[in-house]
Amino acid sequence: MKSLNFDNQFTGQLPADADTGSQRKQLKDALFARVNPTSVCAPTLIHYSEDAAQLLGLSPEDCASEEFLQVFAGNKQLQGMDAHATCYGGHQFGNWAGQLGDGRAINLGEVALGDKHLMLQLKGAGPTPFSRTADGLAVLRSSLREYLCSEAMHYLGVPTTRALSLITTGEDVVRDMLYDGNAAPEKGAVVCRLSSSFVRFGHFQMLAARQELDLLKEFTDFVIQREFPQLDNLAEDAKGTYIAWFEEVCNRTADLMVHWMRVGFVHGVMNTDNMSILGETIDYGPYGWLEGFDPNWTPNTTDAGQRRYRYGQQPAIGQWNLMQLANSILPLIEDPKPLEDALTAYVTRYEAGWQKTMTAKLGLKAYDKDLTDRLLTLLTVSETDMTLFFRALAGITENTQQPFTTLEHCYYTLELLSDADKTQLKTWLADYLKVAKTQGQSDEVRAVLMNQTNPKYVLRNYLSQIAIDSAEAGDYAKVDELLQALKRPYDEQPKYEHLAAKRPEWARNKAGCSMLSCSS
Ligand code: AMP
Ligand code: MG
Repeated sequence: MKSLNFDNQFTGQLPADADTGSQRKQLKDALFARVNPTSVCAPTLIHYSEDAAQLLGLSPEDCASEEFLQVFAGNKQLQGMDAHATCYGGHQFGNWAGQLGDGRAINLGEVALGDKHLMLQLKGAGPTPFSRTADGLAVLRSSLREYLCSEAMHYLGVPTTRALSLITTGEDVVRDMLYDGNAAPEKGAVVCRLSSSFVRFGHFQMLAARQELDLLKEFTDFVIQREFPQLDNLAEDAKGTYIAWFEEVCNRTADLMVHWMRVGFVHGVMNTDNMSILGETIDYGPYGWLEGFDPNWTPNTTDAGQRRYRYGQQPAIGQWNLMQLANSILPLIEDPKPLEDALTAYVTRYEAGWQKTMTAKLGLKAYDKDLTDRLLTLLTVSETDMTLFFRALAGITENTQQPFTTLEHCYYTLELLSDADKTQLKTWLADYLKVAKTQGQSDEVRAVLMNQTNPKYVLRNYLSQIAIDSAEAGDYAKVDELLQALKRPYDEQPKYEHLAAKRPEWARNKAGCSMLSCSS
C-alpha cells in the first residue's frame, strides 16, 4: 500500500496522559491517552469508498491490498501512526454526563495533505480508557449504517465525516438490540472514519468542567490554528479571535441544521458530545430519514418519551448545544455579551438559511411565507412522503391535467385524505403555480432548481435495513447497489427507480426501520 505521511499535530502539540493502554480512568491535565486497537482474528473487507480513499491518495489497488485490510481492521499500524483516544464530556439528553470520551473510537493519526489534513479514526476497534463498562466494539448493523450514511450525506452536499472502509472482524459481539433482555451475538465490524478533526463541543466542556483553564486556552488556540487558520490572528487580541471563532462555529452549526431539515435527516442523538466543532454531521447512531413529513418524528426509541431530538426541534437543540459550548469558553472571553449575540445571530442565520432553502425547494425566486407555511401544515394532514412529494411537485405545471393525481403516490394512506383536505391541497397547488408565474419563474427553471435541492434518493430507513439483513447473511451486493444509487441523489436513475420507492407497509413498525435504539 502507498505510504501515508503523518504529521500528528494533535498528539504532537497537546498533552497526553502519562499512562498508555485501555485501563479505565478519569483524565486530568491531558486531552488524550495513547492506546492501540485490539487485534481481530479474521478481518474481511466488506466495502471501501473509492472517493474517500482518493482523499488520501489511495488507489483501488491500495484498498484491495492485504496491508489495507490489516491496518483498517486495527491489526497493524503504519510507520508514523500514533494511536490514541481523546477525552471529552457532554450533555446527554439535557443532563451533564461528566467524562465520556472516545470509548470505542481510536484515532490512528493525522495524514498531512498539503494545506489540509485528515485524521484516520477506527470505530469499534476495542476498549480505551473511556470505554467505561462497555467493550469498545461495534456490530455490523450499526457500522453499516454509519458507513452508508456518511457517504450518502457527502453526496447530498451535507457536511459530514467520511467513511473509508467497512471491515468485519470475524468475531461476535453480544448486543441487546432493543434493550428488552434479548441479548444475542452479532457480527463485529470496524469502520474507518475520516475528518479533518473529530473535536466535539464536549472536548471544551470537559476542560471547563475540570477547571483546567490554561489547558482550555491552549486547546482552543490549537483548534483555531489547526482547523480555522483563516481566523488565527485576524482579530486584534486573543479574545477577539475566540469570539470570531465562536461565531464561525454558530454559523456552521446553523448551516448544518438547514441541510438536515432540507433533506429530512434526523440525527437522533444530538448530545453535545456528538456535535462536531467543524459543523459536520458526526456519530451516526439511531438516525433516521423522514418518510411521512412529521416534525415530531424521531427514530430513537431511547428518546421516544421526551422526543428531545425530533426532526422539528433540531435547529433549537443546535442552539442549546452552542450555549453549552459558550458556557465552557466564557472563562477565555470573560464577557458573556458577544457570546449571547452570537447565539442570537444563530437564530437569524438559521431562519434566513431555511427561507432560502424553502424557496429553492419550491423552485421560486423569492420566499413566500404564506405559501410555505400552508404547505408545511398540509404535509402533516395525512402521512405524506417528503422526498417523493417535492420531486413530484417539480413536475407539475399549469398544463398538468389533474395535478392532485400526480401526487397521489406520495400519500401512505390515500383513503385517509378527506375531500376537504384534497380541496385545500388543490387550492394550494393553484396558488403555488400563480406565485411562480407572478415571480416570473418558468416551469423549466423551477423544476431544475427543485431537483437540485430536493433529492430523489435518500437512505430510506427500510433500505438500510434490507442492506443490513442481506449483509448479515453474507451478501454485500445490496450495499454496493445502494451506494451507487446514493452517489447521484439528485439525478433520475431509471435503473435504481426501486430505491426511490416509499416505505413498504412491512417496514412501518419494524425494528431497524422506524425504531432504533442506541444499542450498537
Ligand atoms: P454515543 O451515544 O454512541 O455517541 O456514545 C456515547 C458515549 O458512549 C461515547 O463516549 C462513546 O464512546 C461511548 N460508547 C458507546 N458505545 C460504546 C461501546 N460499545 N464501548 C465503549 N464505549 C461506548
Ligand atoms: Mg458519540
